[in-house]
Amino acid sequence: MGQSYSDQMYNKLKEMREELLKNLISENEDFRAAVEDLGLNDLADVASNDIDCRTLEVLGNRDKLQLEKIDAAISRIKNGTYGICASCTKMISKDRLEAIPYAALCIECKQRAERNKR
Ligand SMILES: [Zn+2]
Repeated sequence: MGQSYSDQMYNKLKEMREELLKNLISENEDFRAAVEDLGLNDLADVASNDIDCRTLEVLGNRDKLQLEKIDAAISRIKNGTYGICASCTKMISKDRLEAIPYAALCIECKQRAERNKR
């Protein structure tokens, strides 16, 4: 995986994270209040800070999960494991990463996991 590709995905994930936080702040009063409690005044502050668990508690599970997935993908970029399937360690296809930049599993493992759930 080239350096420029991971830079590109890093920027994409950062954008997604910012977008998600922006939506949460405008839609979720509890989250906005929690963010204000932290003394973070604008979105740039919020986006660059690690939001602590207490703040995340006011979020619904879906939003929290989404944010955690994005954060996990960002840390995978930082430690050089981005794009590697967490289950079989094969490379995740670029098409899949384009569609879901925070994907942690390759399509085969994802489909297997979904099948096992049923
Ligand atoms: Zn896999």
